[in-house]
Amino acid sequence: MNLLNVKNLTVRYERQAAVEDVSFSVAEGDYIAIIGENGSGKSTLVKTLVGLIPPTSGDVELCGITRAQIGYLPQSTVVQRDFPASVTEVVLTGCLGGRMPSPFYTRAQRRCAEENMALLGVTPFAKKSFRELSGGQQQRVLLARALCATEKLLILDEPASVLDPVVTHELYDILRKLNEERGITILMVSHDIHCAMEQAKTILHMGRSQLFWGSVDSYRETALYRRMIGSCEPEIHEHDHHRHRHAAHTAEGGM
Ligand code: ADP
Ligand code: MG
Repeated sequence: MNLLNVKNLTVRYERQAAVEDVSFSVAEGDYIAIIGENGSGKSTLVKTLVGLIPPTSGDVELCGITRAQIGYLPQSTVVQRDFPASVTEVVLTGCLGGRMPSPFYTRAQRRCAEENMALLGVTPFAKKSFRELSGGQQQRVLLARALCATEKLLILDEPASVLDPVVTHELYDILRKLNEERGITILMVSHDIHCAMEQAKTILHMGRSQLFWGSVDSYRETALYRRMIGSCEPEIHEHDHHRHRHAAHTAEGGM
């Protein structure tokens, strides 16, 4: 069963198209990584999926879920990191389903927040101020918040971009567990192709238009993938990531 059907989606800012004629479906249980160069339309695409930007043309069809039931972790900004509220308050806002923050939460909402804080190991910081936490702790809190909104679909925009490698691994372990053990469908924007290939089942490679959509195994066979990782290299090492990213070009030629 599909949770989302995206059909011929085009999104323009003023006159420039950021996303052009993109079509794919999000099947229940899938783990999708959206990859592509900076400026290739990844964030615009996920913002449109969660309803923050209207499509210019085409459709985003939701099946059996509402927009409020999508857990969304936006690409981080400094402003969000400085949010003056306690960890518990931040997590609880995930229960609101898009409504205004309220001092009154139901017992069920509080229980949901407590469960997700425990799941992500942030219960010890429950009463602390969000902005006093480290980047990795904040990201876990924001993930707990996103989980309060959903049992089904998490959409994450570069969740690891603010994290160091160790914490990044922890975060990916958590995401994989949520996908495998809880059956939560994951759609994650990632700038790290190697992590994306390791974690995800399905790849969407954006270059304004959709350059590839399909399984990780079939993506591995493409010239696009070989260009991404630098085709002469027999083996990819951790410390080579940076160089490979710079060697990579999309078929669109440097959006
Ligand atoms: P990515 O997340 O892949 O880096 P974005 O979706 O953020 O890409 O951006 C895609 C293109 O749209 C870029 O050319 C970017 O400059 C442009 N863009 C993004 N946000 C806006 C905006 N709010 N107004 C105008 N142009 C934008
Ligand atoms: Mg982005």
